Amino acid sequence: MNRVINRAKALFALVILLTAGIAVFVVEYLIYSESWVMFPGSPHVYGHSNTGDGIVTDRDGVLLMDTVSGKTYAQDEAVRKAMIHWLGDRQGNISTPVLSHYAREMVGYNIFSGVYDYGDATGQVTLTLSSQVQKAALEAMGDYKGTVAVYNYKTGEIICAVSTPAYDPDNVPDIAGDTTGVWDGAYMNRFLKSTYTPGSIFKIVTAVAALETIPDIQEQTFTCAGTVEYGIDKVTCMAEHGTLTFKDAFLRSCNCSFAHIAGQLGGETLQRYAKLLGVTESMSFDGVSTNAGNLQAQGQADVLVAWSAIGQHKDLINPCQFMTLVGAIANGGSGVKPYVVSQVSGGSYTTHEASAESMGRVMSRQTAQTLQAMMRNNVENSYGDENFAGFTVCAKSGTAEVGGDKKPNAMFAGFVTDEEYPLAFIVAVEEGGFGKTVCVPILEKVLSACKTELAP
Ligand SMILES: [Zn+2]
Repeated sequence: MNRVINRAKALFALVILLTAGIAVFVVEYLIYSESWVMFPGSPHVYGHSNTGDGIVTDRDGVLLMDTVSGKTYAQDEAVRKAMIHWLGDRQGNISTPVLSHYAREMVGYNIFSGVYDYGDATGQVTLTLSSQVQKAALEAMGDYKGTVAVYNYKTGEIICAVSTPAYDPDNVPDIAGDTTGVWDGAYMNRFLKSTYTPGSIFKIVTAVAALETIPDIQEQTFTCAGTVEYGIDKVTCMAEHGTLTFKDAFLRSCNCSFAHIAGQLGGETLQRYAKLLGVTESMSFDGVSTNAGNLQAQGQADVLVAWSAIGQHKDLINPCQFMTLVGAIANGGSGVKPYVVSQVSGGSYTTHEASAESMGRVMSRQTAQTLQAMMRNNVENSYGDENFAGFTVCAKSGTAEVGGDKKPNAMFAGFVTDEEYPLAFIVAVEEGGFGKTVCVPILEKVLSACKTELAP
């Protein structure tokens, strides 16, 4: 009898264990099955069966890439080049983060039926980018290296973000064997990953800090004699600007005036504002992340704080981040996060739909309005209203010394205030020379293409 009871107990214990094991598996399956199936090495999803593949189009439905059998790119060579830093190449030198990030949304994974392919339908990713504006931007950049980007500062949609040099993925040049330097950094998406010495566009950051922390900054006047001495060091201007108001100092981009402003701010405050405004931070969206910029003002000698305040010293900015910052000024002091994927669908199901995401207030509405007026004054009295495709533009130029025998980097950042075109932009041209001279003609072509693209 005892033996029978013991056997029954052992059997019962086994049944309990088995049931518990099944329960654990079911729970794990419910929680993790999607990531098991969708993991990047999964041959079922990403291999030749290609259930996870689909097409990528621009904002107007223009086909940019079809991955159903290998990678087929756009018909138009210029579009293929202009889009390569977002769509990747076949060799894997440039990745396709938007596809890997949204792979499961394109497949439409279901825990009951597994991966399904919707019959003939495929996944589709719709980008916010315009192939027409991308093309115009690529052409406008010519042989220059750098980036030009435009985004809607109310919705966050990136309309254009071109990185040069760019090559045709259907006709790959000998980049590894190149000794001329024309393909340097060809694999890098400069909009996301580069950091540039900003030069005078950084005076935007210094101006925000001054407007927020020096109560009478707009009533002060500054005297520029061409140099400000700091013992054996000095800060210099291109000219003797004489007596200037804060607004005039920003218009003339007077280094000496900004050196005096830096003295009032101090390195710690400047450092705090660079962080608050995102300059020294990185941001992420749609599976991509930007490189953070840099500022080294805190605890530095006065002359170095002054050089930091005018966009030199150790200053570095990332183009995507800086575009978002000027967008926040346009948007009344609150930034809107940029994005590049507007919609993802798996078969007939919409599985991802983007919407505007606020990054919070980074300056008071008053500061934003004052700076907007100052940047508007720059266009009216220096850059020329006739040079911006008929738009009402607010901007700041920069000519960033990068050392060695290199020509300065030409920089230009700002925004359009016309109600129907809420566009913020950045242009960065490596070794371009004078900011205003080089960047404004490039920007005009891009804004002109935006006008056609976004016409109501
Ligand atoms: Zn000056």
